[in-house]
Amino acid sequence: MLICYHIGGHVFAYTPNNVSTHLKECDCGYSIYEYHSITYLQIPRDSSAHRVVCTKCGYSRLEGHSYRYLPGSNLYECIYCGYSTRDPGIILYSISITEPIFFERSKENEFM
Ligand SMILES: [Zn+2]
Ligand SMILES: [Zn+2]
Ligand SMILES: [Zn+2]
Repeated sequence: MLICYHIGGHVFAYTPNNVSTHLKECDCGYSIYEYHSITYLQIPRDSSAHRVVCTKCGYSRLEGHSYRYLPGSNLYECIYCGYSTRDPGIILYSISITEPIFFERSKENEFM
């Protein structure tokens, strides 16, 4: 274990490494890989996905919502970002496996 010259302990910088980890390092030479500190952000103009963001290294990627059904309100809610909708596109998605564009079109039609 290195003795750090920073008063009060290591001062870490974070560098994205891969989809699940980042490198956390101090300029004293100490470094360790650790899992991202993930938070989920809604994307206002793209209702089919949310953004997965690491609050430490800034890593981010888009990911489809994971819905659960809310029986009382007849809504589907994403368990990660909280986005809710009456039309989660789950059925559309299974239809659209052979024709991915169909899903996008139907989302636009929602607002017409
Ligand atoms: Zn250090
Ligand atoms: Zn990270
Ligand atoms: Zn979501």
